[in-house]
Amino acid sequence: MTTQVNAMGRTDSYALRTSTPHSTPTKLRPGAYNLQSRLPGGQSLLVNCITRAIDLVPTSLAEYLTEVGEIPEDFVDPPQALLDYLALRGYVTNLSPEEERTAVRDLATRIDAARAQERATPTFTFVLTYGCNLACTYCFQSGIEGRARPSIMSPDLVVRYFRYIDTFPHNQSKQNIELFGGEPLMKSTRKTVETIVKLGVDRGYTFTATTNGVQLDHFRDLLSPTKIARLLVTLDGPREIHDARRINTSGHGTFARIVSNIKAATDEGVMVSIRTNVDRDNLAHLPAFIDSLDEVGLLGRRNVTVFAAPVKPSLGSLATSELLSHSELIEFLSRDRRLLALRDEKNQGSVNSWDFSWGEQSRYCGAVSSSLLLDPEGLVFTCNEVVGQPEHAVGQFRDDTVEFFADKYSRWRKRSVVALEQCLGCQVALVCAGGCAIRGWHEGSAGAVDCGGFKEAFLSSLRRQFLTQNPQQEEPDGPPTSL
Ligand code: SF4
Ligand code: SF4
Repeated sequence: MTTQVNAMGRTDSYALRTSTPHSTPTKLRPGAYNLQSRLPGGQSLLVNCITRAIDLVPTSLAEYLTEVGEIPEDFVDPPQALLDYLALRGYVTNLSPEEERTAVRDLATRIDAARAQERATPTFTFVLTYGCNLACTYCFQSGIEGRARPSIMSPDLVVRYFRYIDTFPHNQSKQNIELFGGEPLMKSTRKTVETIVKLGVDRGYTFTATTNGVQLDHFRDLLSPTKIARLLVTLDGPREIHDARRINTSGHGTFARIVSNIKAATDEGVMVSIRTNVDRDNLAHLPAFIDSLDEVGLLGRRNVTVFAAPVKPSLGSLATSELLSHSELIEFLSRDRRLLALRDEKNQGSVNSWDFSWGEQSRYCGAVSSSLLLDPEGLVFTCNEVVGQPEHAVGQFRDDTVEFFADKYSRWRKRSVVALEQCLGCQVALVCAGGCAIRGWHEGSAGAVDCGGFKEAFLSSLRRQFLTQNPQQEEPDGPPTSL
């Protein structure tokens, strides 16, 4: 009746209370954390994100176990071995709903506590300047325009920031510093970047830069696997689309120059992730974008990955009607096999793609974990979407240390799934882990969440993986678009 799709990650099933001398055995019931993703042919993936189990089951059973359907006839009196199996996988439980939720809260608390030490060492980002050499319609800088800008971080401030960084214990997994802006890699920032790279390399750091790639040629000597080792560069479509969206301040397109700079960077051994920011305006051009990457020799090139990301509501002045959700973008990409290449990147605000052995987490992103962004004016932030907006600063750099604004800092750092009541009842609580804080706070109180279509995107991703591995299950005219 069931076929195991993955080995579960947890053997101490959270969902079973073994009987004690004083307890009355309780009837098993469907657990509250089951999810279903329909497949062709009357079968479904049954998923439990708490035990991290996936099984292939008849749709009728999946509907019963996710409490959208009646009990199937052939499950009225199931064999004990089947019940034991379903209980071990977390699909049925003898806990009350309240006990089940408490068990999930306890588990989330343990996961969060286990990573507390790792969170104690920050992941640092230098925000070199709020200035930029492009004028894109959707840029986050629309939120900070109008101030006396742009200043560039001084080399002297870099030296003092490194004195602060030196006060933290060495953490091998955090030996990367990000360079961010505005645009961090411009002719005008060269001296500061040189200072950062020199001081960082002396301490064993490498660097990742989020750059528009237009003036990369001025940094060629700093591009290498031991210096600026990774680049995140944006191309927004084939040449004519990109050139209409990402223009330089004198109104010229930038596609050809960026492509040439990406190739030169990969020749130096640098890893380049190309992100394409997608909204309703350029969505239909994604197939042509893949073709154009192929034509210019970037598709399949060593050291180059490509992924699509929806333009975020917080990014600028786009009307909400122009924006796409993650699940809309995933569905679009799933219609064309060539576009699946655009959904391979994880954890960069991209169209995430989960496999059958996804990890579990208690916090959604670095902003609520350990990120610290140091800006050119001595302000300190946790989230790169709101950097430069003083009302979101969590501290001020003074006398070679950061004076944190206690309330603002803890508002970010206390946001784990453990503290979010709505999330503790959610089936993907330990995968999503609370959603974007900024989007949540737009919704209201400190505990408010914005799910952003996470559950649908997660199920869609698992379903796509299953159908890719089991092509005989696919419908002749391609996968249906509903879950
Ligand atoms: S809080 Fe939201 S916008 Fe900020 S880093 Fe996290 S996911 Fe990104
Ligand atoms: S933000 Fe939404 S999808 Fe994510 S864990 Fe919370 S309730 Fe679930």
